[in-house]
Amino acid sequence: MAWEFSTDPEFQEKLDWIQQFCEERVEPLHHIFPHAVRLPDPVVRAYVRDLQQDVKDQGLWALFLDEELGGPGFGQLKLGLVNEILGRYPAAPQLFGAAAPDTGNMEILAAYGTDEQKKRWLEPLLNQEMFSAYSMTEPQGGSDPRLFKTVAVRDGDEWVINGEKWFTSAGRVADLLFVMCTNGIFIVPRTTEGVEIMPEPRNHNHIIYRDVRIPLDHLLGPEDGAHILAQRRLGGGRIHHAMRTIAQCTLAFDMMCERALSRESHGAIIAEHQMVQEKIAESYAKLRMLRLLVLETAWKIDQTSAQDCRTDIGVVKFTMSRVLREISFDSLQIHGSLGTTDLTPLQDMYAVAPTMGLADGADEVHKATVARRVLREYEPHEGNFPREFLPYKKEQAWKKMEPIFEAKPELAEAAERWKAYREKRGR
Ligand SMILES: Cc1cc2nc3c(=O)[nH]c(=O)nc-3n(C[C@H](O)[C@H](O)[C@H](O)COP(=O)(O)OP(=O)(O)OC[C@H]3O[C@@H](n4cnc5c(N)ncnc54)[C@H](O)[C@@H]3O)c2cc1C
Repeated sequence: MAWEFSTDPEFQEKLDWIQQFCEERVEPLHHIFPHAVRLPDPVVRAYVRDLQQDVKDQGLWALFLDEELGGPGFGQLKLGLVNEILGRYPAAPQLFGAAAPDTGNMEILAAYGTDEQKKRWLEPLLNQEMFSAYSMTEPQGGSDPRLFKTVAVRDGDEWVINGEKWFTSAGRVADLLFVMCTNGIFIVPRTTEGVEIMPEPRNHNHIIYRDVRIPLDHLLGPEDGAHILAQRRLGGGRIHHAMRTIAQCTLAFDMMCERALSRESHGAIIAEHQMVQEKIAESYAKLRMLRLLVLETAWKIDQTSAQDCRTDIGVVKFTMSRVLREISFDSLQIHGSLGTTDLTPLQDMYAVAPTMGLADGADEVHKATVARRVLREYEPHEGNFPREFLPYKKEQAWKKMEPIFEAKPELAEAAERWKAYREKRGR
């Protein structure tokens, strides 16, 4: 009977290495050179390359890619265990070659790209010689892809793209824009004529594509394949976000416990006040539930596929933002005034929680999808009363027991006696 929650010692050694590397090398880098991977300074770049080489030497680069797509092929469960370490350190995903939005773009490029496309774009993306962004949401609506209008029209040996995109994260600094059109996903170099990036919002960009001409071979995957590619991309992205969210929740929880043991009020350390204990106990339970849910989903994906696990991924998607919101809020409250400042990571964590409820799709939409999919496993009952209506259950029980009563008359007599006794007592 296989029902295991332990990590094999060999892989635990890798996790220990990652933990130590993150504490000793990655965290200090982030505090001294935020966004180091993107800094143009050649001295910083060389240092970053050295750190990345250490990661590569450990066989830990681009962990999200399966073996057949050119990665180490850890699978999702192991990746989950790694990501729950990396997610605590803002610089870690990039130092391990596993940062969004590049990961999702690389995944579809690896899965659907031609050899030529992989050579031209996947290799430089994997080596961080290029960066990419994903341009899907449009100003008139994000939740419903049927509202998207951006389209590529074939003109001789070129595609001509026209449309408008909203909230393309890191679009301004990307080399490549993966543009979801109504008729496919197209790879557009950002500097192509007709790509116009609006001044606001600064980080998640509003982009106009006006008569943008690209060669025919910039279509990724089949024509009209946008939906399939987008599902694959977003399915993976959601579970990876969730793995890193466990790390953020753990950080908020660790801070909550440390603070609760360190402050005094009204004659006791605050950990002794029951309302603080309630927050700690509830947060602990939520964190454990989230972790189990995410890792179990990761395990299920390994047994089947992300496509087969759409219900589980949907549940993970809307649960992670709620758990992060609740734990970071309680941790912030326990830190009192300090929690409201930007002198700890808590403000940021709490501010990020609502964005998690929107990025990769609004939670409401995922809830509706989950409910629809779950309901497929059920059927309506006939008549006015449900199947669990107790009088039906009793009636069925007598029918089911008939052959046993025939074989054991003394049991039948005992049943009649009990029936009479219960009826007398009105039950
Ligand atoms: C931090 C962040 C990063 C992002 N990065 C990218 C990116 O890189 N590329 C990209 O293309 N997009 C990106 N997005 C956009 C994201 O995909 C959209 O925000 C999301 O799909 C929702 O679309 P919307 O914002 O237009 O909200 P709308 O579609 O306008 O929905 C607004 C609200 O309406 C309600 N609602 C909508 N539909 C339903 C429904 N069916 N049932 C119940 N309620 C509903 C919900 O409350 C929802 O939050 C990012 C978003 C965030 C927050």
